[in-house]
Amino acid sequence: MKEIILVKYGEIILKGFNRPRFEKILMKNIYNAIHLIDDSDITIAQATIYIDVKDSSKLDLVCERLTKIFGIVSVTRAAECEKDIESMKETALRYCGPDLKSGTSFKVEAKRSDKKFPLTSQEISMEIGGFLHENCEGLIVDVHNPQITVKAEVRDFKAYVYCAEKKLRGQGGMPIGTGLKASLLLSGGIDSPVAGHMIAKRGIEIDAINFFSFPYTSERAKEKVLSLASILAQYTSKINVYIVPFTEIQLLIRDKCPEEHMTLIMRRFMMRIAEKIARKNKSSALITGESVGQVASQTLGALDVTNSVVDMPVLRPLIGMDKEEIIVRSRQIGTFDTSILPYEDCCTVFTPKHPSTNPKRASVEKTESVLNIDELVKKAVDGTEMITVYPGSHYMN
Ligand code: ATP
Ligand code: MG
Repeated sequence: MKEIILVKYGEIILKGFNRPRFEKILMKNIYNAIHLIDDSDITIAQATIYIDVKDSSKLDLVCERLTKIFGIVSVTRAAECEKDIESMKETALRYCGPDLKSGTSFKVEAKRSDKKFPLTSQEISMEIGGFLHENCEGLIVDVHNPQITVKAEVRDFKAYVYCAEKKLRGQGGMPIGTGLKASLLLSGGIDSPVAGHMIAKRGIEIDAINFFSFPYTSERAKEKVLSLASILAQYTSKINVYIVPFTEIQLLIRDKCPEEHMTLIMRRFMMRIAEKIARKNKSSALITGESVGQVASQTLGALDVTNSVVDMPVLRPLIGMDKEEIIVRSRQIGTFDTSILPYEDCCTVFTPKHPSTNPKRASVEKTESVLNIDELVKKAVDGTEMITVYPGSHYMN
């Protein structure tokens, strides 16, 4: 019995004129994600992508990878058979039989996209349902609320049979590459990886930028950031991480600026440097993990002060979310356990006791003007190192 993976995709079906281009991008993303696991044939027809996995021992692994690709709504393993009702009946029995134990309620739902097939959808359901009922002891028919729904699809060339309950949910969203690119300010915390995932899900390619204050933050802190990027790369296939040397700027701010503005001035430097790196690497926006009111540097006044130094869109997908909601997502995408590892971030090392919560642009501009801003920004950009990270290339626990 031949098994195949059926991939259904969502939103791009609505894209009219752009649909063929978006489908092509999704196919390419699928190829990139699985070609090192298996030399599968990937074809597309009637809003379904068929993945014919050569090495059947790799089916689970390929399915798991597919559930992380944006644009995919569901991933289903199905048995493929000839388009005649006898072979569909036999295949349903062999493939779904083990799940149809005595006492289980079930129904069959058939669909035919080939309207020339001699039986209607309802007739196919009746035939297969009757056959399963006869051949599996103790089965109960329940068309309203069954425990198992056996699906049968008659398509252009072949027919497919599977249990609906075994369908895996995909990420949804849009395939990466259908949008432009954005640069994620990635710290070692809980929030920024979630923010990156949310924007990538909309089809945006992402780079990451991390501000690193060696030796105040350790090599382990850097490894932690790379490890988070490597988890995100499971969804994006790879991520370029830019590591910015930030110690000199932080020490100067600490020594020369008032303590209550320390965090804000530091964040303004981060934004300026990030914008420069983003422009150099053809990003069209920045992404941060800020959420309004979460900390002193994320009040509306503080956001105005940090936002005012950049001239490109700053995407803040978590802006209206509570920490609890962010944590739920962080667990779902698999970054939480790494995010809570103890290695300190550069912000935690230089934290003022009484940060200003209602800052004004003019007063921060004045207090930071003792620093040679342009020169410091340029030096940090010039000293930036780039590391390309792949799924599983960095791992830490
Ligand atoms: P996170 O959990 O993402 O670290 P946070 O709640 O700790 O966020 P802040 O430290 O105020 O918040 O940082 C706000 C945002 O600024 C982060 O979500 C991230 O986008 C960015 N950021 C903070 N520190 C760094 C850093 N060291 N490198 C890169 N970006 C950073
Ligand atoms: Mg942080």
